[in-house]
Parts: sequence; structure tokens; C-alpha cells
Amino acid sequence: MRRTEKPDVLHGQASQSKKGEDFTFLKTECQRVPGDGISTFSVFGLFDGHNGSAAAIYVKENLLNNVVGAIPSDLSRDEWLAALPRALVAGFVKTDKDFQEKAQTSGTTVTLVILDGWVVTVASVGDSRCILESAEGSIYCLSADHRLDVNIEEVERVTTSGGEVGRLNVAGGAEIGPLRCWPGGLCLSRSIGDMDVGEFIVPIPHVKQVKLSNAGGRLIISSDGVWDALSFESALNCSRGLPAEVAAAQIVKEAVQFKGLKDDTTCIVVDILPPEKISPPRPPKKQGMGMFKAMFRKKSSESSSYSYKDYSEVDTVEEIFENGSAMLCQRLDIEYPICNMFKLFLCAVCQVEMKPGEGISVHAGLSQPGRLRPWDGPLLCPSCTVKKEAMEGKSH
Ligand SMILES: [Zn+2]
Repeated sequence: MRRTEKPDVLHGQASQSKKGEDFTFLKTECQRVPGDGISTFSVFGLFDGHNGSAAAIYVKENLLNNVVGAIPSDLSRDEWLAALPRALVAGFVKTDKDFQEKAQTSGTTVTLVILDGWVVTVASVGDSRCILESAEGSIYCLSADHRLDVNIEEVERVTTSGGEVGRLNVAGGAEIGPLRCWPGGLCLSRSIGDMDVGEFIVPIPHVKQVKLSNAGGRLIISSDGVWDALSFESALNCSRGLPAEVAAAQIVKEAVQFKGLKDDTTCIVVDILPPEKISPPRPPKKQGMGMFKAMFRKKSSESSSYSYKDYSEVDTVEEIFENGSAMLCQRLDIEYPICNMFKLFLCAVCQVEMKPGEGISVHAGLSQPGRLRPWDGPLLCPSCTVKKEAMEGKSH
């Protein structure tokens, strides 16, 4: 990629705090190749903690390192981008496992956005959301919603893994509030932390990777404090044409005005702009039409709770990758580039070095029985295998 082809990235954030459990991470100029100022990418993270803020703070401080540590070194940019979805899964699971070993309660949602050139990769657990409005005016949702109330697939997964899903019972037998899973009573099916709830609450992120046209677009990353008050369209409409910092403040203000400050309310706005144009995106032609675009031409592997109507305009945002499966064996399946063959004996999740024969295939116990060969990777260390089985409801 030529340097001139990189977009300009402007970002801003705003927050109103009720419980002090929302945390953000904004870092531009991260280096893909250490010491190389050209191979840079940006990272934007939002962590909405619950039952305390320890998990959110821990994830803010450790997640990016764990993700980057799961990417083999010496990759080309294209290989690096292709390795990212799998590294995100490994990094989320390692961060969750490490945090739980500290035996602290609390948990957190995670929405992690990695922007490299025009390619946006979003990994999410929980119910903070990331949306994209392309310069052409189409709206795309880049994160999943792991709220049990809206995600039937996740209710089924939790139930199959031994959890119970239901509402709170008050005296008299009436059921109130959102769907929760028990033990624990969490309304989310995925998070990092939460060691005191069932292990079917997994940290395996939904990952989506898209490529924008060089006209760019705007990302809005917000906690549920915003999305409980505003639709995607209202958040975009109330801030359209404003610089990123002002836009983020406006979205938080609108959300709090509409619903009151019931929850931590945090918003990050990221403008991805053609290099010559240092100003917020022009109002698109279809301003306020509020339509979801024919999501992407490629069929996605995970059904979504949204239905996308097929409009006739040409899609300008290209889907590169999407997978939301909660099964580790379906997420670590992608072949790594050939140069990584010599790292066969690293655990695919925590990256610990293993002796030959010590690793256990991520596919063990799934497909045809028979002797597993050491090269039937990806391989997990014994400790990550225990974690994998717990997430699938197979332990204890
Ligand atoms: Zn491991």
C-alpha cells in the first residue's frame, strides 16, 4: 500500500458517568512492524464494566498486547490483516483466562476496533455497539448484540451448555426485567471476566472485517447507555457534519436528554477521511433516510438479528470477514501463513511454548475419533484445553 493511500483519521470521545464503569482506549500510530513508522494502525476500544470496574481496567491494559502477541511476526500487511480475526479470538480468550486467574469478580463488555488503512476490523462481546456510516450514506452494524433479550441463537447456546435463561421472579411469581442467565443473573451471553457466573458466558468475540472505499466514513462506538436511548439513525443524524469530538459530545448529550443519566454513557467517534480532506464527512445525499444497506453481498456465516433489505445501489463497503461462532474450534481453524509453520508448538490461545506431544488439537473430541497427530493443529496447551471445554459446557 502506498503511503498516500492511507486515510486521515480524526477521533473524539465523550462520556457521562453514573457508575464509573465505562473505560476507553484510543491509540493511533501503533506499529505493525516495530520501528517502522509507515506500518501503523489505530485502535479504539470501549469497555463497559459491570459488578465493579476491575475487569474493564484489566482488559483496557492487557487486551491489545494479547491480540498482537498472537500474530506471527514478519507478516506482510495482507497476511497481518488476514491473521487478525484469529488473533482477536486468541487475545480475548487469553485476557479472560488471565483475568479469571486473578480471582476477581466483575466483568466487562468489549468493543475493539482496529483500523489499518481503509480496513476496519471490529471484535465485540456484550452489548456495546459499533456502527459505520459510509461516505455514501449507508449504515452498517459492525458488532454483535450479545444481549439474551435479542439474541435467540445465544439463548440456545447457553441453554445447551447447561445454563438456565429466564427473568427475575418477584414475590407472587411475576417475572420482571430482561432475560438473564443463571447462575449469575447476567443479561449478556458473552463478556470478559465474570468468573462468578457460568462458564457458558464466553469471551469469544464476534469479529467483522470490512474495507471502506477511499471516500471513507464515520464510526460510532458507544456503550448501551447511548443505544438504549438512540437508534443508529438518530445518533448519526444528531451529529452529522460535526467534528468527531463535538459529535461524540452531542450524541452523549442527546442520549442523556432523552433517557436521563441512568447508566454510564460513552461514545467514541472516528472519522476516516480521504487524505486531502481534513474536515468531517459531507452530509451524504440520502441524509436521514435511515436505511440499512443490503448488508454485504457475501453470505455471512452468522445470522444476525437484523434483516437487511436489498437496495439496488452498489455497495461501497466490502465485507472481508465475519464470524460470530462461540466454538473455539470454528474460530482457530483458519490456516496461518506458511512462515508460521515453525511455530507449530505454540498454544494457539495463550502462545505458551509446548513440548512436542504436549499440545492438544483444538478439534480433539469433535470429529472422527482416532489417534490425533501432533500436526493436527491448531494446538492448545492443557490449561487452554480446560478453558475450551468449560466454555463448551463440558467441564465439572
Ligand atoms: Zn494455552
